[in-house]
Amino acid sequence: SSADNKKPLVVITGASSGIGEAAAISFSEAGHPLLLIARRLERLEQLKLPNTICSKVDVTDLDLLKKSISEAESKYGPCDCLVNNAGVMLLGTADKQDPKEWQQMVNVNIMGVMNGIHVVLPGMIERKQGTILNISSIAGRKTFPNHSVYCGTKFGVHALTEQIREEAAPYNVRLITIAPGVVETELLGHTTSDEIKNNYKEWKKTVGKVLESEDVARSILFAYQQPPHVCIREIVLCPTRQD
Ligand code: NDP
Repeated sequence: SSADNKKPLVVITGASSGIGEAAAISFSEAGHPLLLIARRLERLEQLKLPNTICSKVDVTDLDLLKKSISEAESKYGPCDCLVNNAGVMLLGTADKQDPKEWQQMVNVNIMGVMNGIHVVLPGMIERKQGTILNISSIAGRKTFPNHSVYCGTKFGVHALTEQIREEAAPYNVRLITIAPGVVETELLGHTTSDEIKNNYKEWKKTVGKVLESEDVARSILFAYQQPPHVCIREIVLCPTRQD
């Protein structure tokens, strides 16, 4: 039957811009039904992708996230792939930064990722199939100026992904870390210090051509599309000239 040819459901958080948006377009072109999650619903709907549910969810809201994913699963079947991509980078120095900004990064970059895992992992383990891709960063492997808590959260994403990968591996469930260097997106725009933003922009010039969201999306799909017995544990991709 035609149902047998259907590709499984892919859930992408933070799909309203940047890397998440590019991943949504690529997975859709590959024929997957999608659940797209972000707070800016209109930006999700603007993509106008077929077989797609757009859902206004803050990933720190576990109950809403759970409800949204179970609605999508009742329409498209079980989630076979979660792209935990929603994230915030609020650069600052430890002496001046408002702790509310630290809290926001921990809430979204760590708790948001764990909330997604909490919702989909039990079903994947039961079905003995599934892939979770966590979008970390090169800032999850080395430090950068003004990145203290951002690095803290992304080092955390590397650690939790690798640990849960070990827990889930006996059930054929894959956890994958994607760690990009600089990508041209809206990410920097949320930093509140103009001085730090300008310094970052100056540094970016030394890197030459930075990554595009599509470059990262290609890595995400490459990792997901491996046969089930192959787990690419981590992809680190940076602009060639980035330090
Ligand atoms: P963008 O700012 O363009 O995208 C971030 C996405 O996360 C948006 O769709 C935003 O949607 C969503 N988001 C933020 N907070 C929440 C929330 N509380 N609940 C739901 N969604 C949320 O940046 P990028 O595309 O660059 O970032 C994507 C990921 O890539 C992040 O995890 C980032 O840390 C990582 N990354 C980015 C790099 C870069 O240089 N750009 C380098 C390495 C890693 P909305 O505001 O509508 O909720």
